[in-house]
Amino acid sequence: MPRNDIFKQIKQLETLKRKAIKQLLSSKEKIEKELSALGHGAGAAIATYKKISRPRDPNKPCKVCGETGHDARRHRFEKKGKKGHASA
Ligand SMILES: [Zn+2]
Repeated sequence: MPRNDIFKQIKQLETLKRKAIKQLLSSKEKIEKELSALGHGAGAAIATYKKISRPRDPNKPCKVCGETGHDARRHRFEKKGKKGHASA
């Protein structure tokens, strides 16, 4: 077999290998998606984590005073700090 043909075949094999890896990766993604949809796998864990810890929107106004930049929890601390200092 001429050497050029060997190199050609090696190149073809590399292409086939990359194609196979690509296909496997895409089916892996599909399988992982399906698994996470069923509540199983790393994807599911991340999805649950995201659901539990909702990122606080910094532009969302405070429930207590309507100001942005903090949430109602801040006022809970304020009330605690001013306990026994009430003027009403
Ligand atoms: Zn506030």
